[in-house]
Order: sequence, then C-alpha cells, then structure tokens
Amino acid sequence: MKPFRYCPACGSRLQEHDHEGGAHCNACGRAWYRNPAPTVGAAIVRDGRALVTVRARPPHRGEIDIPGGFLQPGEDPVEGLRREVREELGIEVDTSIERCVQAVPHRYGPEGDWVLALGFVADPVGEVDLQPADDVAAARWVTAGELEELDFAWEHDRRLVRKALGHG
Ligand SMILES: [Zn+2]
Repeated sequence: MKPFRYCPACGSRLQEHDHEGGAHCNACGRAWYRNPAPTVGAAIVRDGRALVTVRARPPHRGEIDIPGGFLQPGEDPVEGLRREVREELGIEVDTSIERCVQAVPHRYGPEGDWVLALGFVADPVGEVDLQPADDVAAARWVTAGELEELDFAWEHDRRLVRKALGHG
C-alpha cells in the first residue's frame, strides 16, 4: 500500500509521514498508520503428507502455496483459517492457536505491502473431498522428501510444511 497523501476521512492534504509510517491531518486531527495485514496459512497434514496448492492468480501465479489468506476485521485467526480452507478447498480442518508455529513478516504483491504470515499446523476432518476454488489451480499431497523440489511462492511456507511434517 502506498502511503496516504490525502486524509481518508476529510480529504485534506496530509503532513509528511513520521518514522512510524503515520501521517497526521491538520484539518480533522486524525492520524493514519500503515500496519502489516495478518494472514493465516495451514500445513494440513495426514498420513505423513501435507496438502499444498498451486496458485491460479497473481502474485506468484503457478507457484506452490498453502491454503489460507487474509483475515477479516475482528475475525478470530483460527476461525479465519478454517473459513479460508473451506472456501479454497471445500474441506474442514481442526487446529488451535497453540498450533500456530510461526509468524513471519514479509512483503506481498506489486506494492510490496507488509503482511504478517501466521502459520498453523492443522488436521483434516473426516472425508477429504477436495473441491478447489477458482484461485487454486491444483492441490496435492506432498512428502517431506519432495519439499526441496517444489517452487514455493514464499520460503516461509516451505519451512512451515517441513516443520509440520516433523523435519523442521
Ligand atoms: Zn482529515
């Protein structure tokens, strides 16, 4: 996200951004800050394999990803993760906040927005009948031995899957 130049509330020109990325509006007195957006992702593990996806859309189209996405405002991270997995793959997963095993800041998209990626380990619930959504080109189960060969969009996802498969 580019820094705001005009106040999103009143439309006045903002002052220079301070070292924390905040910009103050002299007209209405508000301050605007640029914060990282939290994302949630899951290494879904069954029988020694983890479920990875192929991205159907930019950024990083065609590269390997894990199920997950951006949280909605006020959303519980575990609930948000379960929602994203349901939307992307049509399956239910079981996890908990205690199974969030990494938190990695990184840049995302053409604007280089800062994201904080929360990585969970999760179990599929019941029958796994994958029904990938439009933004998922493919989904497949991989072993720890295959991880180095895969073209992950983000290295921290490779680390998460390796950890989840007990090789981290
Ligand atoms: Zn203003």
